[in-house]
Amino acid sequence: MTGRSRREVLRAFGVVAGVSAAASLAPVGLVDSVDAFAAPPTTPTLTPKQAMARLAAGNRRFVKARLRHPRRDGARRAGLAEGQAPFAVVLGCADSRVPPEVIYDEGLGNLFVARVAGNTTADALVAGSIEYSVTQLGSVVVVVLGHERCGAVSAAIDVATKGTELPGDLPAVVAPILPIVEQAVSSGTPADQLLEVVTKENIRQAVETLRTTTLLADYVARGELEVVGREYLLESGRAVAV
Ligand SMILES: [Zn+2]
Repeated sequence: MTGRSRREVLRAFGVVAGVSAAASLAPVGLVDSVDAFAAPPTTPTLTPKQAMARLAAGNRRFVKARLRHPRRDGARRAGLAEGQAPFAVVLGCADSRVPPEVIYDEGLGNLFVARVAGNTTADALVAGSIEYSVTQLGSVVVVVLGHERCGAVSAAIDVATKGTELPGDLPAVVAPILPIVEQAVSSGTPADQLLEVVTKENIRQAVETLRTTTLLADYVARGELEVVGREYLLESGRAVAV
């Protein structure tokens, strides 16, 4: 995509409204720079490592019930009206127990969140949303956030192992997970361990897909982006590496 066409895309998304007068008059090459238009002046630029540490610290506060509820006041809201620069993207499950802003104790404008039952990347709308935040808003970390006892994973196991038939559009939710179940079954995973094994492998495969087969691969290769997998533990509240 050329700089000019990217600007047009950004205008369509309402991003260019946040461009300063100087940046909007800058040469196309400068407008290509994410920092030129997306980062509010008060937002520090984080490295991927710093961003990971910040998420880990927020999750520790959540686990210990020492929440700060940061950046949720009127001033922050108003400050974000002209643009956003979320430092991290979270691809999470739609499960009501795993809201990313809560479990990472983050506020407005910090996390770009895509949620779909089963936290899979098969839908181009999901992958494209993640690409958008990394390439246009400057996010430096992508977290694939699965969780224990996921209903989408359980349903995929039932479909693959019991022949359960799902109504409506539910088959589309489990379809990306079915090959992982079949692989786990064929490699001898005991039935009572399938849910745990498939949950973790589903997260790992989403990470691998995002790292290697999307626009994100170039960012990863340059060290500008980390893509990581986390499993949320329902009782403790911890988001642990997978
Ligand atoms: Zn789930």
